[in-house]
Amino acid sequence: MNHAQVNIDLKAIAANIKRIKASTGSQILAVVKADAYGHGLVPVANTALASGATWLGVALLEEALTLRKTGIRARIIAWLTPPGDDFDLAIANGIDLSVPSIKILHEIVAAARSLGITPRVHIEVDTGMSRGGFLDEWPDFLREIVALKDELSIVGIWSHFARADEPEELANVEQMKTFAKRVDQLRSVGISPSVIHLSNSAATLVNLNAHHDLVRIGIAMYGLSPDVATLGSSTSLELTPAMHLQAKLHLVKKVPAGSAVGYGGTAVLSKNTKLGVIAMGYADGIPRNTSSEAAVFVHTKSGGKLAPLVGRVSMDQFVVDLGSRSTAQAGDWVDVFGGAGQSVDDWARASGTINYEIVTRIAARVPRIYLR
Ligand SMILES: *Cc1c(COP(=O)(O)O)cnc(C)c1O
Repeated sequence: MNHAQVNIDLKAIAANIKRIKASTGSQILAVVKADAYGHGLVPVANTALASGATWLGVALLEEALTLRKTGIRARIIAWLTPPGDDFDLAIANGIDLSVPSIKILHEIVAAARSLGITPRVHIEVDTGMSRGGFLDEWPDFLREIVALKDELSIVGIWSHFARADEPEELANVEQMKTFAKRVDQLRSVGISPSVIHLSNSAATLVNLNAHHDLVRIGIAMYGLSPDVATLGSSTSLELTPAMHLQAKLHLVKKVPAGSAVGYGGTAVLSKNTKLGVIAMGYADGIPRNTSSEAAVFVHTKSGGKLAPLVGRVSMDQFVVDLGSRSTAQAGDWVDVFGGAGQSVDDWARASGTINYEIVTRIAARVPRIYLR
């Protein structure tokens, strides 16, 4: 490796799943969309299944098919099913499909008829987020589904919380009530799915009444808090962050006071110092608007110290202030986040975003190294 690498601690992921499994009686669905939140789709999926998860969840059909191609036989749900998706391929590969609209219902039924296979579906209801799932079409859908139910294996009914990371928020109670009503309405037309699911990580951690038959855990599995401010840190939630980003100093040099650093000259050095240049930039997923509150950890014989970002992040590089007495040398590895360095949450705060975005945006050109 010559510029940077992401170390993924699969043991941490295994421990996080076990910790969550111990706190619920429900089945665990490991959410591995978006390349497992940047941690690596297939290694994470296999770790999750070996650690107590019995389902996998992805956004896109392509992600589900990649998992099947590697030989994974577990149940996989794909929940973003736009019109024109290859439902034939999905059904032939035993992928569970989400049904958010009558149009998709019809496309799935048509694919199933041509294949002669009964598809497994999960009905998605909008309970207050105004994003995916049935809302205005619901009464019509209930009539449609009665006519088509013998052609389908209706495995699940599900919805998604908008504000599960704000446990005191009444909107959560409203969503749960609406969800219960939709489940009842479905039962009243003779359909009783065996897998009712509503909870993401936040609800799994703090809303025991919302677990139902299965919980869908994403961010917590990766050892991160859904929201540090409202739910506490990884440590207080007994979760272990799995991602550690390391990069190499590729240049170290003395720069005099008064020098402007980076594009736009937005940072001007107040004293003589040594700067370190790191070969990572926004093309690697380092947010361009990261402030000097973010720092990398430079290891030294006596322990180490944080070196804050200076100036704008470029496409492939950013600059840190090592301090005039630094003994760091070109070729030394630093911890960007994780390891001895700042946390993903520190970087999220310094960039005005959330930990989810920090980990998912680390680019594919940064190699992943797996610790098993
Ligand atoms: C991403 C996602 C999850 C996981 O959310 P976390 O907050 O990461 O636990 C669960 N369900 C659905 C439908 C999702 O899209």
